[in-house]
Amino acid sequence: MAKRTFSIGGVHPHDSKISRSCAIEPLAIPQTVYISVAQHIGAPAKPVVAVGDKVKVGEVLAEPGGFVSAFIHSSVSGTVKSIAPRADLAGNPQMTIEIAVEGDEWAEGIDTSDTLVTEIPEDGKQILEKIRLGGVVGLGGATFPTHVKLSPPPGSKCEMLIINGCECEPYLTSDFRTLLEKGEQVVVGAALIKQVLGGVPCTIGIEENKPEAIAHINEVIEKLKKVSPKYEGISVLSLKKRYPQGGEKQLIDAVMHRQVPSGGLPISVGAVVQNVATALAVYDAVQKNKPIVDNSVTVTGECFPAQANLLVRVGTPLRFIIDSLGGVPENAVKIISGGPMMGKAVANLDAATLKGTSALLFLTAEQTARKAPSACIRCGRCAEACPMGLEPFLLNRLWKAGDNEKLEANAVADCIECGCCLYSCPANIPLLDMIRMAKADVMKIIRARAAAAKAAAEATKK
Ligand code: SF4
Ligand code: SF4
Repeated sequence: MAKRTFSIGGVHPHDSKISRSCAIEPLAIPQTVYISVAQHIGAPAKPVVAVGDKVKVGEVLAEPGGFVSAFIHSSVSGTVKSIAPRADLAGNPQMTIEIAVEGDEWAEGIDTSDTLVTEIPEDGKQILEKIRLGGVVGLGGATFPTHVKLSPPPGSKCEMLIINGCECEPYLTSDFRTLLEKGEQVVVGAALIKQVLGGVPCTIGIEENKPEAIAHINEVIEKLKKVSPKYEGISVLSLKKRYPQGGEKQLIDAVMHRQVPSGGLPISVGAVVQNVATALAVYDAVQKNKPIVDNSVTVTGECFPAQANLLVRVGTPLRFIIDSLGGVPENAVKIISGGPMMGKAVANLDAATLKGTSALLFLTAEQTARKAPSACIRCGRCAEACPMGLEPFLLNRLWKAGDNEKLEANAVADCIECGCCLYSCPANIPLLDMIRMAKADVMKIIRARAAAAKAAAEATKK
């Protein structure tokens, strides 16, 4: 039977998973970590420590700065040296807590043992609170605070939990290794999320190019079903390899055959999607009292001799990671944080990792060379490849004309920045760059309009 996949668009880039056999190894702790308070979508967290304070691993450094925000914890033990703006990956200043490392002492109450805790608490609210206190955010790229995502708005109902194990971006293998090495914890994490959502069925979607992970997770589920009925209703679905299979809306389409409407959220079609690494973070937060203090990072690229999957403390400088593996290769001209399709170029090697840092990819001049763009030949390939049903050639034209009204009407805000249009264009037009800028302009207008409407509604109340 044909494997399931999403119904429109998509491309088939070479998967280049050259680090797939590299087990996750803990990286040494650096002498200093730099922990940003803006590691998630929403309001930055507010520091609750002061310069000179002593902290242990897992202690709170900053508390949520709003409804959509998350706790930030110390990833090391040591002394707070400064709280000041520091350049992030792109060179933009972000409020950052600098900690000089002294030993590796963990906060009381955190279970650092390998003992698997399989019991699922009855009380979903208690689980949700532990997820909130653990500073858990979506680790599939979006870094949306998980406790908010698991609290559907009144009137909406979750019918299915989908755990995203696709890892469809070329080169990335940290989720694959997590499924193989921490499969039990991931499935327990899925059962915990399922409990928060009222016991809905749970599908773990994994692309067909990871047969070892599919077999292992199936075995884990069968084993855990014998331990508790709470593991009933969890299953694995092998999906066709097709980019961007792991996009939230594409995964819902593949698994549930439902389309999230333009501008809508997954919950509007009864779905909640969480990534494999997020399920592991939920397990840690709920069963071990361990907040997010580390995460798995793939370090890879054909020009990089030491492929690796590393368990890295949050706030580790990128330079420290790279130097521990032999330094930047001579022929690398570009470093990407994330994968080649959706990742962002690293402009600052002194930047530090965030909770959501998934990969460092080294590329050569040959791999990054962009051919000179020529005129659009109206072949329509970009529209065919767009998994959101957009018309990238038209969006490009409208952006050049500065027509924000028509850009909004043509749903530029729905663009998931997957890069399929750019990948498909025979005229080498930098579609993604332009559509990103167009989307940013339109989103600014949409946000300003929403703020004005809110202010007007409040003024009427008075
Ligand atoms: S980057 Fe945006 S416009 Fe281009 S294919 Fe992806 S969703 Fe469509
Ligand atoms: S793929 Fe490129 S050349 Fe073809 S229609 Fe789209 S923008 Fe034009």
